[in-house]
Amino acid sequence: MDSRRSAFRIPEGAAIIIRELNKAGHEAYLVGGCVRDLFLSRTPGDWDITTSARPEQVKAIFRRTIDTGLKHGTVTVLLKGSQYEVTTYRLDGAYSDGRHPDDVTFTSDLAEDLKRRDFTINAMAWHPGEGVVDLFDGQGDLARGVIRCVGDARERFTEDALRILRAVRFAAQLGFAIDADTESALKVLAPNLVHVSRERVRVELEKMLLSAHPDKWAFLEGAGVLPYALPPSVFTLTEEEAEAADAALQQRVRTLREGIFADAPERECAVRLAVLTAAHPKSTEGLLRDLRYDNDTIRFTRMLSESLSRPLAPEGVCARQLLCDVTPEGITQLLAVREALGEDRARLLAVRAECSRVLEAGEPYCLGMLAVNGNDLMKECGIRGKAVGDTLKALLAHVIVKPADNERERLLRLAAEMSS
Ligand code: ATP
Ligand code: MG
Repeated sequence: MDSRRSAFRIPEGAAIIIRELNKAGHEAYLVGGCVRDLFLSRTPGDWDITTSARPEQVKAIFRRTIDTGLKHGTVTVLLKGSQYEVTTYRLDGAYSDGRHPDDVTFTSDLAEDLKRRDFTINAMAWHPGEGVVDLFDGQGDLARGVIRCVGDARERFTEDALRILRAVRFAAQLGFAIDADTESALKVLAPNLVHVSRERVRVELEKMLLSAHPDKWAFLEGAGVLPYALPPSVFTLTEEEAEAADAALQQRVRTLREGIFADAPERECAVRLAVLTAAHPKSTEGLLRDLRYDNDTIRFTRMLSESLSRPLAPEGVCARQLLCDVTPEGITQLLAVREALGEDRARLLAVRAECSRVLEAGEPYCLGMLAVNGNDLMKECGIRGKAVGDTLKALLAHVIVKPADNERERLLRLAAEMSS
């Protein structure tokens, strides 16, 4: 045991839980991500505790608990306004549902519990009095900046293929490299990812995309992992398309780091996905659906990704078309995305200025601004049914090009011509 680093500051609640468990004769340590983050001076997202106590023993010690996953040994303890997951030392069986181990065996040996964990940097335990328990040189890998499986990488990825994505996600979040054995194992076992639930895949991809190194996407592509993590429709590219997409990707991911929708991670994530797959925007929708995004995000992202492929010019017709496609609110976002993709900033600003001019001048860009409506078309031109909507759209397309034609009489005449 190493007590050199016993001076970490940890939340009072976590310290109390460890102390009370110890007092009752049980071992207890902080474990996993929070220990890794303490060593990296990052703020841990959650403080997990591992203990030799069985769930019922944990529940008997603390007043407020939630049965989070008793079968898997996890009790949530509520203390000092925070929640702590306290999990009994355990060994995992196979993960045949791709989510939970089929069976879990409790153990009284901390080493067994650490051995079941995914990466060396995630397999350390820490105690305020004793310091760190680091059986697989997690500290060394932290210092070297390496993601390395605990034990035999092929075995570990065979047990749970999600670890493949987790390896890349941690590499992206921490700016780490992936150890050579771990990398070659993940390439071989990538096909097993098809058995992992979409929800788990999405969580890892999102964390990766929102990290400081979304460019690890290129690693996932290069390692041949993506076709198994995402629906095949996204990857039906010809060789040339794939090459062009790859070159564009390198450029895009570099510029994506800035973030476009910092206050809306869900959107940011969807947009990053759209940008990364912009070489084939048709499949962006399928991709987002597959990852179970909500309809609103899917609509927004599709709109962005479609308009990404259209050339922009600081001219009225282009500005009106753009406003029609993405609404005034969407303009800022679209231009930000295009700037991230490497388009000339001055030109984009000129396009924006032109959009402002169109808005101020009240030039028509949406159906509601047409000088006629559906009723007019029915009454004055005898147009019926689906043709009403189609004609309105055609009239809008016309006035986007020729705004001066947006007059009732002129449009009615045009509509009559169109329907004749
Ligand atoms: P984050 O900061 O994203 O929460 P984390 O390392 O805490 O990262 P969690 O998913 O919260 O990740 O998992 C907590 C710990 O449980 C991990 O550090 C690791 O020790 C272990 N763990 C989680 N998922 C797996 C898995 N699929 N296989 C093996 N061990 C896992
Ligand atoms: Mg965690």
